[in-house]
Amino acid sequence: MSAERKPGFNTLAIHAGAQPDPATGARATPIYQTTSYVFEDVDHAAALFNLETFGNIYTRITNPTQAVLEERVAALEGGTAGLAVASGHAAQALVFHVLLEPGDEFVAARQLYGGSINQFTQSFKKFGWSVRFADTDDAGSFRAALTPKTKAIFVESIANPGGIITDIAAISAVAKDAGVPLIVDNTLATPYLIRPIQHGADIIVHSLTKFLGGHGNSIGGAIVDCGTFDWLASGRYPTLSEPSPSYHGIIFAETFGNFGFAIAARVFSLRDLGPAISPFNAFLILTGIETLPLRMQRHCDNALSVAEWLSGHEKVAWVNYAGLPGNKYYALARRYCPLGAGAVFTFGLKGGYEGGVRLVSNVRLFSHLANIGDTRSLIIHPASTTHRQLSDEQRARAGAGPEVVRLSVGLEDVADIIADLDQALAAV
Ligand SMILES: *Cc1c(COP(=O)(O)O)cnc(C)c1O
Repeated sequence: MSAERKPGFNTLAIHAGAQPDPATGARATPIYQTTSYVFEDVDHAAALFNLETFGNIYTRITNPTQAVLEERVAALEGGTAGLAVASGHAAQALVFHVLLEPGDEFVAARQLYGGSINQFTQSFKKFGWSVRFADTDDAGSFRAALTPKTKAIFVESIANPGGIITDIAAISAVAKDAGVPLIVDNTLATPYLIRPIQHGADIIVHSLTKFLGGHGNSIGGAIVDCGTFDWLASGRYPTLSEPSPSYHGIIFAETFGNFGFAIAARVFSLRDLGPAISPFNAFLILTGIETLPLRMQRHCDNALSVAEWLSGHEKVAWVNYAGLPGNKYYALARRYCPLGAGAVFTFGLKGGYEGGVRLVSNVRLFSHLANIGDTRSLIIHPASTTHRQLSDEQRARAGAGPEVVRLSVGLEDVADIIADLDQALAAV
């Protein structure tokens, strides 16, 4: 890539962070399947442990395959640095581990991936962290949930269970007034559709497991430091702005400036909590990212066609896809993701709970499972699976009423995807 030209998104998806292997000339990024790295001498080892020089010590903390993935995701998002970890949930846990002390709070949108709701309300309690929920559609509800203990705001850009577009800029304004960072989970959109930095995000998290990896074969997660939040001026985040006892008193935000958050997440939180990504998973996800722009566009185009077709079907009560004119989120979708409204959305069956069960039992091309963002088309009936433990009222609040079906539209021929839904709906 020439120095004068700023490479475009397609180019970055293939090249960012990578170069031919200096030892072998290998063009694809090798899988550095090693736990540890030989020191040049005692002084080199000391400099590495003191963070005076960048280099590899142990794969729990850094690995060359993982490093390419980190640079790739950070470049696509436009951030200052990235950190790849074992899963999307690990990314979230590490972000909050850097930001929160026992007794601290954060405000999160209520419209979240179900696993995130469990993590925030159940596991985080054991760290002494509490969450208050607000409504994605109402920036004022985030303001109302703030307390003097609030240290962050968390939203999804395209929110679960799909079809919801978040007004990131409006919620960023609340975060800025409160002096706290805005964390955006950009999993469903990917940076191909939405770049949260442009709308005021300070930290981005990803489940790489979904569209970024894209092939349903590896679990992974990422954190992107947007380099936008002034931790030193705030003074409310001691991990970043106070001397670190485990590194001879260095201050992360001072020594590493606008990528101090990413460094702290790696050398403090990842080092001590330990959810490292395997080099093999990093390799598979990197390979997936090379075709992200092509895949994401086809995912969106197929999803729009399927949503249009479902809207006209006699057994379908409603379709919630933000790409459909007339949808509640259509204007936000035009503004935030003009290339497409993603590939995950819900629709309701006139046949209710029984209809949902019959539909998922009769699909042939679609896979009935609890994932999204695969090349394959996926379907789930939340009321009989992911949300079956909840009460009727909780299910309705989570957008998982008895009649609701969720699709993750894949990359097959759209005529085949529609034909499969057509024959399965005939059995409803
Ligand atoms: C899947 C998902 C997660 C969790 O990611 P894992 O890789 O499964 O740990 C978090 N947020 C969203 C929006 C997701 O879809």
